[in-house]
Amino acid sequence: MVEGISDVDQSQPSIARVYDYLLGGKDNYAVDRVVGDRFKQELPGSVAIAHANRQGLIRAVREIALAGIEQFIDLGSGLPTADNVHQVAQHHAPGSRVVYIDSDPIVLAHGRALLEDNEHTRVVQADVRDPRSIREHPDVIGMIDFDRPVAVIHSAVLHHINDDEDPRSIVRYWQEQVPSGSYFFISHFRSGGNPETVEAEAVLQATFGRGRWRTDEEISDLFGDLEILEPGIVPSSLWRPGLAERLPRIEPAQHELTVWEQLIVAGLARKP
Ligand code: SAM
Repeated sequence: MVEGISDVDQSQPSIARVYDYLLGGKDNYAVDRVVGDRFKQELPGSVAIAHANRQGLIRAVREIALAGIEQFIDLGSGLPTADNVHQVAQHHAPGSRVVYIDSDPIVLAHGRALLEDNEHTRVVQADVRDPRSIREHPDVIGMIDFDRPVAVIHSAVLHHINDDEDPRSIVRYWQEQVPSGSYFFISHFRSGGNPETVEAEAVLQATFGRGRWRTDEEISDLFGDLEILEPGIVPSSLWRPGLAERLPRIEPAQHELTVWEQLIVAGLARKP
């Protein structure tokens, strides 16, 4: 058994495990698959959203690594899957340091098992809503040099932070902690002002008590005064898809985006 797995509550669905199920992973329980199957039935685009998001993240990490950044903090990292942030980053820059943060104990358990031999990567169980506790965590201090540019990743996690928990202040906190030249990647559920958005938000809120589909303006506001890089905040499938020419395994969206694919967007910004 994976060490730490006994801390995992198997009677309640978890965001990390349902997302793992939608991505085709195996680190989930019956209770997660019931929810995942309901998502697939009631929200037929949920699998497409999960894949579009993950592929956008992979392309962004590659871009950030190619820009010379060798330190990553991945907030709300999720369960290990194919092409994890440390694998993509360390493929391009072998010395890259990565700290994964997630509040779900299953991420810690599986992450530690995966990373046993990786001296440049850590996984920390912590709550993204308490960024100071993450900044001051010994594994973060030991792995990240805050005098050098850092990539701060909020991939598909800020939409699990409700408005009264002030997601903007979380990003702002990290903005203040890192030097000029640091990168910020955010992907987020985007409101289409359509029945699909209303339905999706209702299903997520009913299941987890969380899940906010924010407008373009609200998502843009999360970046504060960071410099948003080309092509701006766009559906994840359209975020630098041309890169796929250099990455044969990753297929960009060749087709007209479905209404569902338009409900997840991504953006990359740089601290001036
Ligand atoms: N970042 C990965 C990606 O984009 O593929 C995983 C995204 S998954 C949809 C959201 C993750 O955020 C889950 O693993 C969940 O446990 C985590 N999460 C949600 N709220 C969190 C919080 N307050 N603190 C830390 N992690 C959180």
